[in-house]
Amino acid sequence: MRTIWLTLCACAIMMAQSKFEYWPMVQYDASIPTARSVLGYDIGDRVSSHANLMHYMEALAAAAPNRMKVFEYAKSWEGRKLIYAAVGSEQNIRRLPEIQAAMKKLYDPRKTSEAEAQKLMSGLPAVIWLGYGVHGNEISSPDAALMTAYHLLAARNDKLVSDVLAHVVVLIDPTQNPDGRDRFVHNFEVAEGSEPNADPTAAEHNEPWPGGRTNHYYFDLNRDWLAITQPETAGRIKALLQWYPLVFVDLHEMGTESTYYFAPEATPFNPHLVPQFQKEPLYWFGKNNAKYFDQFGFSYFTREQYDAFYPGYGASWPSYYGGLAMTYENGSTRGLVVRRSDETTITFRETVRRHFVSSIATCETAATNRERLLSNFWQYHVTALAEAEREPVKNYIFPRRGNVAAVDRLAELMLQHGAEVMRAKAAFKVDGKDFPEGTYVIPLAQPAKRLVRTLLDTQVSMEDDFLKAEEARRKRRLSSEIYDVTAWALPLQFGVEMFSTNSKTTGDLEPLKKELLPQGGISGKATVAYLVPWGSTASAKVLTAALREGLRVHSSDKKFTLGGRTYPAGTLIIKVKENSAVIPEVMSKIVKATHAEVIGTETGWVDDGPNFGSRYVNFMKKPGIAIAWDSPTGPGSAGQIRFVLERQFNYPVTVIRVNQMANADLSKFQVIILPDAGFGAGYTGAFGPVGSRRLKDWVQAGGTLIGMGGALQYMGANGLLNVSQENATVEAPPAAGAVAGAGRPTGAPGGAAAPATPATPGTPAADGRVAGKNLAKDADFEKAIQPDSEPPSSAHGFIAKAKVDQEHWLTAGVPETVYAMIQGRNIYSPIKVDRGINAVYFSGPEDVVASGYLWDEFKKQIAYKPFLVLQRDGRGFEIGFTADPNFRAYFDGLNILFLNAVFRAPAHIGGGGAFGEETALEHVQ
Ligand SMILES: [Zn+2]
Repeated sequence: MRTIWLTLCACAIMMAQSKFEYWPMVQYDASIPTARSVLGYDIGDRVSSHANLMHYMEALAAAAPNRMKVFEYAKSWEGRKLIYAAVGSEQNIRRLPEIQAAMKKLYDPRKTSEAEAQKLMSGLPAVIWLGYGVHGNEISSPDAALMTAYHLLAARNDKLVSDVLAHVVVLIDPTQNPDGRDRFVHNFEVAEGSEPNADPTAAEHNEPWPGGRTNHYYFDLNRDWLAITQPETAGRIKALLQWYPLVFVDLHEMGTESTYYFAPEATPFNPHLVPQFQKEPLYWFGKNNAKYFDQFGFSYFTREQYDAFYPGYGASWPSYYGGLAMTYENGSTRGLVVRRSDETTITFRETVRRHFVSSIATCETAATNRERLLSNFWQYHVTALAEAEREPVKNYIFPRRGNVAAVDRLAELMLQHGAEVMRAKAAFKVDGKDFPEGTYVIPLAQPAKRLVRTLLDTQVSMEDDFLKAEEARRKRRLSSEIYDVTAWALPLQFGVEMFSTNSKTTGDLEPLKKELLPQGGISGKATVAYLVPWGSTASAKVLTAALREGLRVHSSDKKFTLGGRTYPAGTLIIKVKENSAVIPEVMSKIVKATHAEVIGTETGWVDDGPNFGSRYVNFMKKPGIAIAWDSPTGPGSAGQIRFVLERQFNYPVTVIRVNQMANADLSKFQVIILPDAGFGAGYTGAFGPVGSRRLKDWVQAGGTLIGMGGALQYMGANGLLNVSQENATVEAPPAAGAVAGAGRPTGAPGGAAAPATPATPGTPAADGRVAGKNLAKDADFEKAIQPDSEPPSSAHGFIAKAKVDQEHWLTAGVPETVYAMIQGRNIYSPIKVDRGINAVYFSGPEDVVASGYLWDEFKKQIAYKPFLVLQRDGRGFEIGFTADPNFRAYFDGLNILFLNAVFRAPAHIGGGGAFGEETALEHVQ
């Protein structure tokens, strides 16, 4: 079938244009293999699979080994390799290690003199990185990568190409997200008919859930550069830090109706970027792209939509080692041909050509500006170090206490980002505060200074003018120009303490290396029990590992003191006599894998708090966990929940498609998680009344149902949780007869975004007319156009501060303050005290925003509303997180809360005995 339509397609194109040229008038060297000779089709005829992308890149490198070298840098979750190829002149390809070493010297003016830098720069090529296909369903760029590599190797007697090869080493990363790419290709091929269909509604243009954008765990890899949770990103960042490419381009696609976007970028501009190095040079690249786009008749736009404020994009992270990072966006065909609303038809091949042309134009700009780019890179670091001298803050200090595993992970992550981290060899005192041995110190006086600030500062602000315009747009219900979240701050995300000091000396420090990270261990002699103090993410890893090993694990709901040490609520008690004789070996294996701190005890005698046989000590069951999967769940939420449990806590789960969950045998599971699903209305339809009833029966028989974000709307509307989603607060009720009570929940069953509230003054009578009302001034008009009731405006993503009710098992081991990412408009009314517990709720309006941008109405409305609620239903529990705590798997500070919900609720179901029932909702101390 494919051969037939390929022929038809080829004919159609041949008729339209006698010869499709990627670059006019170029002669190609016959010794470099064409795609047709290797893959059996011309570039642009098909959407190449990952295997074909690899195959062709390797064939090119084999044909020109002196000018192209392939490096493998990572493996995807599904086992596909990620590569980049270095393409350049024979002379440059021969000296790649020397180029890397020279770039490393230019990165650090503390170790390199100005004279040495000048000498290095005079002989160095400009290394640039072209990254293709980070979103797997943005299909044109990987095939453009093949064409770019071929063109650079095969073009003969072409001045542009020979200039590029002489002055630039081009690193080509053909597909940054192989799993997503192949998911798209598979879905597309499954949906294809006998010939390509240009109708945008045809199945081949519309992917089934979850689409190919994301990787195996449905992570958007273009948001992952902040916390580097995925192997694709980890490998790429490691490779970038070996090269420090002067330019990084991330080549994407956007909607079919769009043209082409390239730099300069839109506002807001991250204040830790430097205009001189990272804004002005964008014009060199934009203008040169424009020259070729004008010449070839391609439409384009600049300065709109795509900003670089969030540092977790591919087109922003490289800025923080001193590179120039850019996004190119191409209107997609999402197939081989598509008809747009202006009646034009565009082929895949044409979109591949646009990305190819911008790639070559970029190489040329880098060649032309080689010296300026190198000098900018050097100056970037010279000025960063000078800037650090002027900063009031000299060091960020992270005491190793509280959730020590999160503190360690933060330190390790900063190393992965290329920052220098120091470790205190002994306890010390700074600014009158005590810090323990093992405390991490991150000095600002380092080349990565701006990276350090952007990742660690608790607030990175947008420009005032931008925010004013944004506020005006919001009031008019126009769409926002903020592209992603407005907040990140690793210390808040990880829930770790951070102190900043202007003191230059901070104890006896040594540079942190991965090998120096604490490994945990077992202290004391365990004849009675092993104790695992709860609260560190490592302790939660011990729990999951112990359950998987088949150990019998208990846990105390209350804190206790034993041998002079106080153990927090939630501490795990692994009794030696209840477990097999091989427990010492098993425990040492677990500690090795989890790096947890475990204490052996020879006595069960406690000085204070419950003994190991107390009613407050529960047996931890090994729960079977199911996650609702497939439409209508949000792939991001579903994927990150699965990822956190399976990969961060090594506990396998069963994912069940929602349409099967309504009928499946749920009795095998103790926990079911409903991921966020937008407004949640989709669950109502998918489960139907019968499915919802079955879920409730399952809970009442002893199950734990955990909902996230929009899923609570479904749960609230279907009798599964006593919360209601709120409409926006109406500050001053319009007139008598209007909605009573500001911000009252609508509680509309199964309603979507804006369930209408009846009986308002503007409500038409039976004859369709409304009572007349004079509008005397502009203010009256403004008031008259406001809806009586609507959902709150959607928050772009800010970090909210929330207070923890620490006297419940659901919050065992959790500090009194936690931070969560809030996006969208999910605000729920608190649960009433006779129905359940608001275990975590947001702070007051003055301090609910810990980081990011949020308007006053939202602050006032979300204040004191719940983040985590729990209610008993029959023998089971319903638990709701009003926002998914696993956001991008980078809120490690919420791990314990989430794990408590998943693993502690089943421990409190009880065997039907009085205590299980009684203490379930009761506060434990
Ligand atoms: Zn994209």
